[in-house]
Amino acid sequence: MRFDIITIFPGFFTGIFEHGIVKRARATSRITVDIHDLRNFTHDRHRTVDDRPFGGGEGMVLKPEPLVEAVESLGVTTKNLRDAERESVILLSAQGGKFTQTTARDLAKMERLVLICGRYEGVDERVNDLVCDRELSIGDYVLSGGELGAAVVVDATMRLVPGVLGNEDSSAFESFGHSDDHFTADPEGPPRSTYGAGGILDYPHYTRPAEFRGLAVPEVLAGGDHAAIRRWRRERALEKTLRNRPDLLETADLSLEDQQVIEILNYSLERDQK
Ligand code: SAH
Repeated sequence: MRFDIITIFPGFFTGIFEHGIVKRARATSRITVDIHDLRNFTHDRHRTVDDRPFGGGEGMVLKPEPLVEAVESLGVTTKNLRDAERESVILLSAQGGKFTQTTARDLAKMERLVLICGRYEGVDERVNDLVCDRELSIGDYVLSGGELGAAVVVDATMRLVPGVLGNEDSSAFESFGHSDDHFTADPEGPPRSTYGAGGILDYPHYTRPAEFRGLAVPEVLAGGDHAAIRRWRRERALEKTLRNRPDLLETADLSLEDQQVIEILNYSLERDQK
């Protein structure tokens, strides 16, 4: 899979893709990430990328000409002919649709992504109209530039590209996992990392030492009862989701057993509040 990032601060990405899974995926050529300096697509002596906003108001706006030229230089198909299943040009924007694990999963099926990083007050809207397929926001806050957003999109997407994670199951059995995971999970197998997450959060993890500063690892995890471990993990994942992200429970794929667990958890939560 190929990623191209267009930015006025190419130096921002020095180092950010040089660690862990991204580094390994680049080294094995499963993914390529190319950074393009927007100023290389200007034609004036000052290499101007921004200008004052029409209609007045604060700040500066990224001009359309260098951005459109930069995208065109990458050889992506023109917007009206583009196969949106294979390649996509994305504008990072606080006004975009929210980037989620579901978005990352969709993007990971593509061959090529071009990510445009805005700065200042944003990007001339015609860039969006002429070359972008979508606008993505990484969350409900305003960043000073699209670079962190682009890095987030590359990281979350590329780890879902087949072959990038050593163990394919790692991405299926984690927070926001597929709702159909529990169909693919082998019920006889070892208790997986987030067994059948079904759109809820991951469960708490523990490693050695078995006791640390007076806190012992939950007893069930030290025993060899896989079914009990699986049950415990599912309950703790549900508990964490109920506590930190109850909104996820509305769309999560919950079994009858899950619903009973939540009822009990809710009951004890209410009791504790009294
Ligand atoms: N005036 C804009 C904010 C501009 S911030 C507004 O109020 O919506 C400058 C640039 O930072 C944007 O063009 C965009 O590329 C990036 N950016 C800011 N917040 C972002 C977010 N939540 N997600 C992705 N990119 C963001």
